[in-house]
Amino acid sequence: MSRIAYVNGQYVIQRDANVSIQDRGYQFGDGVYEVCEIFRGALIDEARHLDRLARSLEELRIGAPLGKGALGVVLREIIARNKVANGYVYIQVTRGAAPRDHAFPPSSVRSSLIVTARQIDPEKGEAAARKGISVVTTPDLRWKRVDIKTISLIPNCLARQAAKEGGAQEAWFIDSDGMVVEGAASNAWIIDRSGAIVTRQLDSSVLRGITRTTLIDIIAAQGLTLEERKFSLEEAFSAQEAFITGATTLVTPVVTIDGRKIGDGAPGPLAQRLRSIFHDTAARTF
Ligand code: PLP
Repeated sequence: MSRIAYVNGQYVIQRDANVSIQDRGYQFGDGVYEVCEIFRGALIDEARHLDRLARSLEELRIGAPLGKGALGVVLREIIARNKVANGYVYIQVTRGAAPRDHAFPPSSVRSSLIVTARQIDPEKGEAAARKGISVVTTPDLRWKRVDIKTISLIPNCLARQAAKEGGAQEAWFIDSDGMVVEGAASNAWIIDRSGAIVTRQLDSSVLRGITRTTLIDIIAAQGLTLEERKFSLEEAFSAQEAFITGATTLVTPVVTIDGRKIGDGAPGPLAQRLRSIFHDTAARTF
């Protein structure tokens, strides 16, 4: 079956899809994106993803290519046309195509929108979670507004490549004070010595993960202790448990960081429990 993409108002066979070489996403990385999970045919936390997309666009003064309602229709159409039951939908908006000039193009230039969907085998994520993943650390070389979900992801790509070359699945960015920031494509969490669930507080140094937000709701509903604060790599090494969150990884236990075992080196029971109840709380829309 050919995969279908939505590209600037049209549904096209993905291998035939094309965008202008003058697209500012291509030339400057001047755009933003979202990745939303599809679980058993439902979009997970759609409203939160679309709100974050709107915020990213506003922060960069890129015009919304479609209203939220119309974008929701496109998402459903792409999911249906690609027959995706489990996987994710990818939304990318760039400032549009115009002759190359760093400053913004005239307001008559419309932003570009592409939407694709991809099927993934849920069992692969479950297997990774049962085994736990390994993380390597790397200095945080990103710009100072990573709260905006931009498509400019070179440091994230370098970090993921370093993870791959080190036999790991994720890289954690470390700031100049030795504190853990977040993953290359996930938020970073530990269960500290006191049993508190810890993740870095929100500011412009970290992405407001949608999975993170929903997990915080779950933690509150379960009566567990949350601390939104910085934690050092040293503290992570001695944590009871560690895990990551993201729309495609959900809650995935971390069993080693830079080759050092976390806890007893097996996926932590609390991370596994949080994973197992995640979809019960996350909003599902069809
Ligand atoms: N942090 C970064 C840098 C990311 O790229 C992502 C997801 O891609 C996340 C955190 C997790 O965000 P979400 O839970 O919305 O997928």
